[in-house]
Amino acid sequence: MDKRKRILTGDRPTGKMHLGHYVGSLKNRVRLQDEYECFFLVADLHMLTTRPQKEHIHALRENVREMLLDYLAVGIDPSRSTIYLQSAIHAVYEMNLFFEMLVTLPRVARLPSIKDMARAARLDEEAIPFGLVGYPILQAADILTPRAHLVPVGKDNLAHVEVTREIVRRFNSYYGEVFPIPDALIGEVPVLVGSDGQAKMSKSLDNAIFLSDDAQTVKKKVRGMFTDPNRIRADIPGRVEGNPVFVYHDAFNPDEAEVADLKSRYREGTVGDVEVKEKLSRALNDFLDPIRERRAQFEADSGYVEKVLYEGTQRVQVVADETLKEMKKAMGLTGVWNRISRKARDRMRRDERKESGS
Ligand code: ATP
Ligand code: MG
Repeated sequence: MDKRKRILTGDRPTGKMHLGHYVGSLKNRVRLQDEYECFFLVADLHMLTTRPQKEHIHALRENVREMLLDYLAVGIDPSRSTIYLQSAIHAVYEMNLFFEMLVTLPRVARLPSIKDMARAARLDEEAIPFGLVGYPILQAADILTPRAHLVPVGKDNLAHVEVTREIVRRFNSYYGEVFPIPDALIGEVPVLVGSDGQAKMSKSLDNAIFLSDDAQTVKKKVRGMFTDPNRIRADIPGRVEGNPVFVYHDAFNPDEAEVADLKSRYREGTVGDVEVKEKLSRALNDFLDPIRERRAQFEADSGYVEKVLYEGTQRVQVVADETLKEMKKAMGLTGVWNRISRKARDRMRRDERKESGS
């Protein structure tokens, strides 16, 4: 038996992964693979909360593959960590329903993240699906599938982990200590700004640099990046704090001396945006090169990605069934059903005897 504590986290398979996903969560996952027993899920049911249409389900085949390639390319190692497909875990649907009884509607409905997701999906308040309000509850079902202790996520997800913690407290107080109370682990950069200066790098906002972007694309995106809007000439002192180019330099340029030098010259007005951006492109491409290389290798290996997901999912089916069984036992549902079946079987036996005796 593996004695390590467990990690669970995952992502919606809505496309390729970007630098925000990396600093927000992927980096922690890769780092903690030995220390923890890790479970990473492809959250396709969560995708359905805003994209239930057939075309999105159809696109899953490609999107799941892209996501897995990103996982493997950054260094998630399937020989140490388990990667699985959420919709193939039957126990999750049942767990979700039980947890729905332990949260109030206003608690989840007032979460800003639900409204943010609705906005990103261009749904107005009236059109928010019931299932989208249930997003954090389904997430609780995921986190509690392997009874995880730690959940590495971006800051936008912190409020959801808090909902899971509340569910666990309530569950354990009603039925006994079945689940640990999980902690969130926020990444080094809690929320990475978008290349356009918007608060969050996001696929849906068209401000993302993807882990799979080629070198030319990265250069082009960096050249078009938002900087200090007041700095219309290179000799005007600029603002470094919150400036996306410097946020990215801090996160991805390992040459600290170079970054410090650029910052001080930027503040003085003695360096142009062009130089700052060229150095950023180089740093980002140096960071992405080995990721691209590994991605290409896995991509060429036909059936490998599918095998990884298939084996991981099979493993989790066993883990999830075990958790569900213990849940139902603790809740007393197993006992109710067992008694009903026992009495029914007794009666059926008596009926049989009577029939054969008469
Ligand atoms: P996007 O918003 O780009 O479409 P997403 O929000 O759909 O991505 P999720 O599946 O919701 O992606 O998030 C996956 C994980 O990545 C979550 O833990 C989330 O907090 C984290 N994450 C996403 N974007 C960022 C970001 N810009 N900075 C830090 N973490 C992020
Ligand atoms: Mg999100």
